[in-house]
Amino acid sequence: MDLGLKGKTALVCASSKGLGLGCARALAEAGVDLIMNARGAEALEAAAQDIRDTFGVAVTTVACDVTTEDGQATLINAAQDVDILVNNAGGPPPGMWTDWDRDDFIAALDANMLAPIALIKAIVPGMMERGWGRVVNITSQSVKSPIPVLGLSNSARAGLTGYVAGTSRQVAGKGVTINNLLPGIHATDRAAALDKGVAEAEGITVEEAKVKRCATIPAGRYGTAEEFGATCAFLCSQYAGFIIGQNVLLDGGAVNTTM
Ligand code: NAP
Repeated sequence: MDLGLKGKTALVCASSKGLGLGCARALAEAGVDLIMNARGAEALEAAAQDIRDTFGVAVTTVACDVTTEDGQATLINAAQDVDILVNNAGGPPPGMWTDWDRDDFIAALDANMLAPIALIKAIVPGMMERGWGRVVNITSQSVKSPIPVLGLSNSARAGLTGYVAGTSRQVAGKGVTINNLLPGIHATDRAAALDKGVAEAEGITVEEAKVKRCATIPAGRYGTAEEFGATCAFLCSQYAGFIIGQNVLLDGGAVNTTM
């Protein structure tokens, strides 16, 4: 399927590994030139080179921390005129509600709410002027179904979701869509870290923790970055212009709701 994206440009934040990389690769496959970002320059450049070699698109890399004001300024400077913005950052650590103080919440808000809002605010006006744009925010299934040990994530992502619900409807008339992708468990480093945490807390092996988690997912497995990226690319496609302010759950059926 030709997604109608050949020659478009995208900034994909936090994309040297995992779900961000899945999105970058799927967009590259559709012919999109990329600006990729992560903190670690070596893994970022390796991921970028693999995409250049595989898909033949132009890829530039910007190694910086997307959760800081400096990092955001660097990214905005590099990506002022992009057609597509994929917002992503690492997720907050798990813990107990009694442990988190103000600084923990500020860090979570910076990473998973205020960073995407800053990039949207800087980059979407240009998209509106040009009459076309796509923004996809990687959030979490925790927006629909809270994960108690990830209270920092539940809180920050709920804030971003509220912002997107209103803002997406303010920019839709100018050809710009903003939507959220909500991953359930996917086989990435983040999932491995979460499984390690469960194993340590429950005195079981990481493999046992994974089997236990799979038993809670109707699909019986973890999602893949490729599946996730393909959904992102479709949301960015010419065919998705009527999808506005939605929260698309990719969770193998784990969230048990009718709608
Ligand atoms: P991952 O495999 O750990 O990959 C994270 C990527 O983001 C890496 O490329 C990392 O590179 C980059 N990154 C992290 N912090 C960054 C920062 N401050 N600035 C720039 N780049 C940064 O994680 P993932 O599984 O793809 O998860 C992506 C997001 O989805 C996270 O917010 C996570 O909480 C959420 N999520 C994931 C799952 C899942 O099952 N995987 C489920 C629900 C929600 P550097 O470390 O070099 O910066």
